[in-house]
Amino acid sequence: MRVIVATGNKDKVKEIKEILSDMDALVVTMKDAGVSAEPEEDGATFLENAVIKAKAVAEKAAKSSDWKDAVVMADDSGLVIDALNGEPGIYSARYMGHDTSYREKNANLIERMDNVPEEERSARFVCAVAAVCPGGKILTAEAAMEGRIAYEERGQGGFGYDPIFYLPEFDRTSAELSPEEKNSISHRGKALRMMREKLTD
Ligand code: IMP
Repeated sequence: MRVIVATGNKDKVKEIKEILSDMDALVVTMKDAGVSAEPEEDGATFLENAVIKAKAVAEKAAKSSDWKDAVVMADDSGLVIDALNGEPGIYSARYMGHDTSYREKNANLIERMDNVPEEERSARFVCAVAAVCPGGKILTAEAAMEGRIAYEERGQGGFGYDPIFYLPEFDRTSAELSPEEKNSISHRGKALRMMREKLTD
């Protein structure tokens, strides 16, 4: 099986390749496959956006003589903070603008959470995965990782909002986990393992 990962986000590609490393499949990026598409992610949910991305890239792959038999997989993910009515949610990548650094985005979210007590700091990372199979069939999977918004940034690992995502059971942020630890409990790890099962079925 050959799988094209429909994302240009290098951090996500790295995690996706690690998580799917024991799958009996060749996993390549859109760049490797020479196909690309940047559809407007105007869905109302993570799942809708994952399907929009996967379908747009699958249309291109179908026209490529080399990759028309490949599965095209896309992930849409983000951070959902309960005390902020679910923000940044599906707008996580776009929050404060694409070009704003995560140091600034994270500092801003911590500031907005300034007066929020411990018991109301719940949040989750959500990941929806959609895969378009060569015949056009679409498979989906979705999972979450529960945690809380930290009071300060901690850790150098992971990417994006990881430094402010505190996991009480580890007493660490997800940026302080090793890649293996993060992948074993993360939204992306769980959703991709569910998808791997569906694809190999
Ligand atoms: P997408 O490319 O539209 O799915 O954007 C997902 C965005 O959500 C990323 O750019 C990050 O801001 C955030 N995000 C998703 N997963 C993670 C994660 O595992 N750690 C930190 N931030 C994440």
